[in-house]
Amino acid sequence: MSANLFTVGIDIGSTASKCVVLSDGKDIVARSVIPVGAGTTGPARAMAQALSDCGKTISDMASVCSTGYGRHSFPDATFEVSELSCHAKGVCALFPDVRTIIDIGGQDIKAMKIGPDHRLINFMMNDKCAAGTGRFLEVMARVLEVQVADLSELGSKSTKTVDISSTCTVFAESEVISQLSGGVAIPDLVAGIHRSVARRVVGLVKRLGIEEQVVMSGGVAKNTVVVSRLESALGVKIVTSPLAQLDGAFGAAIFAHEKAAEQLAAA
Ligand code: ADP
Repeated sequence: MSANLFTVGIDIGSTASKCVVLSDGKDIVARSVIPVGAGTTGPARAMAQALSDCGKTISDMASVCSTGYGRHSFPDATFEVSELSCHAKGVCALFPDVRTIIDIGGQDIKAMKIGPDHRLINFMMNDKCAAGTGRFLEVMARVLEVQVADLSELGSKSTKTVDISSTCTVFAESEVISQLSGGVAIPDLVAGIHRSVARRVVGLVKRLGIEEQVVMSGGVAKNTVVVSRLESALGVKIVTSPLAQLDGAFGAAIFAHEKAAEQLAAA
């Protein structure tokens, strides 16, 4: 019996570094998320943690694929693949019927149209602006002195959604500070923040055109209130990826497996 083929994918994002180690291209044997991204110690720490969790070293990996905003700067990468391709790869492996992927990370909103053959047909991305992204949610959480992971629970306690009229993160931040000092309840402000994110994302997804099955990935997929606001606004069911933030790293690890298997076959 031949030994298992281990590969690793690393997704170096603007906000977080993520790793997935795969055995034979399908079984996840380790995963890690370090909440700091490109240009920090995050990528090295994410890799060290994932490898240590499965009792392997980098030299046990048949191939290493890097993706994400910081993919060009990972010294142990065998090759690099764009985050669009890696997200599509990871999500298609989990949801073979997917036709639209909404990926919201720290600084990007990506909407992808996927063909029945799992090819990326078209995509839309936000401009260089934090509106509607994880960064927007992080800035607002900081002003409200709450954790980003607690926003969905807080938002679900709202009785009245406050209108946040500015799309710009900096102006919206001032608006939230002023409403807060005026005595507006935090859950109502959080509801307004979620509505602002949903509006921004809906605009982008509608320009791409939506086709079911719709899957949401990226860190913001963990915010269940944003997901349900998007479902209502788009009028479709949205499935959230169980890997969420890790879909890009998962896709990268699959690409690494394909490359390693090809090389093995050619040897
Ligand atoms: P990137 O690839 O750009 O680094 P990620 O896909 O890792 O981005 O997503 C990072 C974002 O995910 C953060 O900005 C944050 O808003 C959101 N996030 C991370 N963890 C959680 C959580 N537990 N609940 C809600 N949102 C989260």
